[in-house]
Amino acid sequence: MKKTTLFPLLCFTVFFFFLWLLAACFGFFGKEYISAPIKESNSKKSALTVPVPKTITLLHQGTVTALSLEEYLYGVVAAEMPASFEEEALKAQAVAARTYTVNRSQTPNPNHPDANVCSESSHCKAYLPPEELSRKFQNEPQLLKKIQTAVDDTKSEIIIYNGEPISAVFHSTSSGMTENAQDVWGNSVPYLLSVVSEGEEASPRYQETKTFTPEEFIEALNRGEKKVSFSESPAEWFGEWIKNDSGSTKSLTICGIPFLGTELRSLLGLRSTHFEISVADIITVTTKGNGHGVGMSQYGANDMAKRGYSYEDILKKYYTGVEIANQ
Ligand SMILES: [Zn+2]
Repeated sequence: MKKTTLFPLLCFTVFFFFLWLLAACFGFFGKEYISAPIKESNSKKSALTVPVPKTITLLHQGTVTALSLEEYLYGVVAAEMPASFEEEALKAQAVAARTYTVNRSQTPNPNHPDANVCSESSHCKAYLPPEELSRKFQNEPQLLKKIQTAVDDTKSEIIIYNGEPISAVFHSTSSGMTENAQDVWGNSVPYLLSVVSEGEEASPRYQETKTFTPEEFIEALNRGEKKVSFSESPAEWFGEWIKNDSGSTKSLTICGIPFLGTELRSLLGLRSTHFEISVADIITVTTKGNGHGVGMSQYGANDMAKRGYSYEDILKKYYTGVEIANQ
């Protein structure tokens, strides 16, 4: 081809290339031509009306100290979730723990009026102070960094329902379905509803079998306030058994006395209220799940993260109808 015909062709090509580039920049061809699609529905955040405190007061080993909210959360996430979990699961845990703390900080706690939270996992949340974090992760500093990143990347974000920070309760492992708050604690909470939770089998505490001799079973139940007159044959002990939609026990009548599933969990030392009982010479109780089962399941969250879901997807699955808000 001659130079004289090649030059106009080159100009023509360059001109149309710039025209395309200009059109793409102004969105003429649609977003997908110039950037990867963004899941906008999950990245929107509501404005927060409740202030997220910068510092909180913590009762730890008998002493009340003030510390930054983020430093407190490093210690809570490290104590409450394995650092080996996926980053998005750790972020979901960080936002849930932050929300729980903000919710708790709104009113003085009668158990520790001088502190917003305590480090008792049975009352508030488990917590590891900086020196324990350094010791725990001295050979794996990258795991501590992973936890800190999950907290820092979600800074100021909390979960709200009707504009208010929620009671973001969570548990280790569900039975395959989480529980309605009403079935566990007796009070209905609109965002703490039972949902299907996949991947729980990955938890080392997913299933447990406990056995009791009839004598051990009688002794365990008689430790409670209800006094039961046990007949001779254990096969006759168990009467009406009411279960909720998740298959967990609402109540089970034993020798004419109704027991709540939560009472039996406590008296028999079971990991959850999702259990089956078989009676032969011994009484075998097989439990699925670990914990109260309400709100976010940590193993379920990790499974979602492994399947590519974001921390916002995880939180919106386990807390019904909520929004993620930041300042
Ligand atoms: Zn407390």
